[in-house]
Amino acid sequence: MKKRIGLLYGGKSAEHEVSLSTARAVTQALDFSEFDVFPIFITLNGEWRVGPQLTEAAQSIEQLQFTSTSEKSDNNIMQFISAHMANPFEVIFPLLHGTNGEDGTVQGFLEVLNIPYVGNGVLGSAAGMDKVTMKQLFEMAGLPQVPYVHFIRSEWESNKQGYTAKCEEALGYPMFVKPANLGSSVGISKASNATELERAVAFALQYDRKIVVEQGVTAREIELAVLGNDAPQVSVAGEIKPMTDFYDYDSKYKDGSTALIIPAPLEEQVYANLVDMAKKAFKAIDGAGLVRADFFVTENNEIFINEVNTLPGFTPVSMYPLLWQHTNVPYPELIKKLIALAVERHTEKQ
Ligand code: ATP
Ligand code: MG
Ligand code: MG
Ligand code: MG
Repeated sequence: MKKRIGLLYGGKSAEHEVSLSTARAVTQALDFSEFDVFPIFITLNGEWRVGPQLTEAAQSIEQLQFTSTSEKSDNNIMQFISAHMANPFEVIFPLLHGTNGEDGTVQGFLEVLNIPYVGNGVLGSAAGMDKVTMKQLFEMAGLPQVPYVHFIRSEWESNKQGYTAKCEEALGYPMFVKPANLGSSVGISKASNATELERAVAFALQYDRKIVVEQGVTAREIELAVLGNDAPQVSVAGEIKPMTDFYDYDSKYKDGSTALIIPAPLEEQVYANLVDMAKKAFKAIDGAGLVRADFFVTENNEIFINEVNTLPGFTPVSMYPLLWQHTNVPYPELIKKLIALAVERHTEKQ
């Protein structure tokens, strides 16, 4: 029996475009003799559209952005619910990045509908999306991190000088200013003086009301992929070498100038520590299915965890699938494993 799976992509998020590339790549790797695949597109406005069953890989992103549906185009999320009621999806594969997708909201919706879904649950997704909450959980798990300061819009606006002084004292320049709830480097900038800090905070505030400012480190960027539920496995390590000042949005998705080195050259003990920390980070956020754990490793092999991503990119240039490919789990098999883990987790909860 073929499994009915729904690919959920697009989304009301600054990472909408990235999600579309991910969805196309997943359709290209899915085995259509094993799965009945249904595209579920969420527009930038948050409208849900269930497309006709896909019988082959999507050749283009446009093909996944169908504008008209079999029913009214304004019937939104109800169309998804009716489609599910008529013929239940066995697993939903959320390929959404950023807010309204990677943050637990969609996961909660799927929980309420009692549909198994790939990846992290409500808590793991929410904790992994909010950089401040994530840092606090990492702190409790004893994971080393760079110093940081955080505040919300109203706090900053009523006391810019105070927060600037606090950042200068606790962190020093350069600093990295980030919206707490995002990904793909959207809204992130580096600040080397007070003027730049103010500009960077204003920029980040366009994306979120909560901001985190971190001490900038000079370090290698090393990432590991975690896969599993209760006893997750960890991949080889990969290294990112952006040609730009830092790993920003364009170097991630646009110009292809970033070199990914897999496996990353690391001393055995350093790699062992990273594996241990990746597992701890997964557990700290109550991870399930998958996370990509991102680290900074300094010249002296000091390790800081930067973050975990609960729905890391799956585009052809993405680190997560490449790490598994180098750990003897090819892309199509990885997708199958993730679907199996989703079913396992759902069954366990019953
Ligand atoms: P994604 O989810 O796509 O991995 P993100 O939006 O969650 O990205 P971060 O990973 O936190 O963002 O930061 C993006 C990039 O900015 C990092 O990969 C790194 O190049 C740089 N960066 C972030 N924080 C620091 C820091 N404290 N010191 C030095 N560089 C940093
Ligand atoms: Mg991230
Ligand atoms: Mg991310
Ligand atoms: Mg990152």
